Amino acid sequence: MTTNTNPTNLRGRAAGILLALCAGLFATQAVAETLAIYAGQLFDSESGKLLEKRTVHVENGRIASVQKGFAKRDREKLVDLRKYTVLPGLMDMHTHLAFEFGPRTYMETFTWNAADYTLRAVNTAGRTLRAGFTTVRDLGDSGNVTVSLRNAIEKGTIEGPRIFTAGKSIATTGGHADPTNGYRHSLMGSPGPAEGVVNGPASAREAVRQRYKDGADLIKITATGGVLSVAKSGQNPQFMDDELEAIVATARDYGFTVAVHAHGKEGMERAIRAGVDSIEHGTYMDEETMDLMKRHNTWYVPTLLAGDWVAKKAAIEGFFPDLVRPKAARIGPLIQGTFAEAHRRGVKIAFGTDSGVSRHGDNAQEFALMVQGGMSPADAIRSATWNAAQLLKAEDELGSISEGKRADIIAVAGNPMEDITELQRVQFVMKDGQVFKRPAASDGLVVGE
Ligand SMILES: [Zn+2]
Repeated sequence: MTTNTNPTNLRGRAAGILLALCAGLFATQAVAETLAIYAGQLFDSESGKLLEKRTVHVENGRIASVQKGFAKRDREKLVDLRKYTVLPGLMDMHTHLAFEFGPRTYMETFTWNAADYTLRAVNTAGRTLRAGFTTVRDLGDSGNVTVSLRNAIEKGTIEGPRIFTAGKSIATTGGHADPTNGYRHSLMGSPGPAEGVVNGPASAREAVRQRYKDGADLIKITATGGVLSVAKSGQNPQFMDDELEAIVATARDYGFTVAVHAHGKEGMERAIRAGVDSIEHGTYMDEETMDLMKRHNTWYVPTLLAGDWVAKKAAIEGFFPDLVRPKAARIGPLIQGTFAEAHRRGVKIAFGTDSGVSRHGDNAQEFALMVQGGMSPADAIRSATWNAAQLLKAEDELGSISEGKRADIIAVAGNPMEDITELQRVQFVMKDGQVFKRPAASDGLVVGE
């Protein structure tokens, strides 16, 4: 019942129990056992405060209760994180698990089959989870790879974060997510609503309904030009008002939210007025746009890491195609300034990295960029927990360590309020009550009776 402090005895017991526990945890998705987690410090994402010495009771993959002090019940196994800071599982609102950008990316269209994207996604999903991200919103794939990925993770076939996916992004002809941009016409043809390319309200409705049929959880559109597509403008508006209205109205019918890639002001503002849920990147928004977002209750997902990454790669000769390089050099460095101003002005911000541009598993580097942009560490962490859960409309299930929610729990060794980069070194990961990562040196962490 009480923790055994004899080190030799402890190590032997811990090893045996660890083996038994791992076998139990990964054999089946249903975790019947009950656990008590001793948290040296616990981040309360509702208040943004660090609480001292708490016990989190976990039952059947959910948080049964949180109490003051350290108090394990007889039937519970112990996860001793008394030397750690315990936080809710992190949530990235902008990933592309099927992609990972590199110098050969533009050739993959010709050389990769759906199975290649799928196997990559199995790898990127595992990296993302082990980095402490227990939930992601995936904003654009190819061949509905992330729909199957989500389902396989839910079943426990493979390890990865909980996924809310948009499936294939919706664009207009030649728009940012038209997958045939820059390629020879005789090879690529003209994609339509099924492939996520629309023109006019009727085909916009059809594309949204196709995503429903494909098994998507939300809709993603590319309302303006973008950096990495082989097209001239990174910011021109690419949807008309009637198309945006058709997208949003159809999305509402099917219970979808709408996420919007946008760099330019005009295209962004059209989308906000049409009632979309989030603006991604948002590079050229100004004070007028920010106030419009506040009036319409629109979320901002900044993706600072992507801006930083493309700006750095633009400096490398030959890394990007000729049409892409100047856009990356111009747009990339601007996002952090936009973020700083939007935060100062009180726009609602949810955490997102655009990972798949940068490397999957590096997601937590975004926190440091947010803090550099003037956000407090507590607010940055809240943007990836409490705020993200609201953007997903999943605040009853996710986003904080509180009674009744899913047991998505991580831990870091130091204090992220003092050093935000601690989140780049997540030591412990639990999702739905299952442990997927534990500290390499297991002193201080005991899993036992
Ligand atoms: Zn993206």
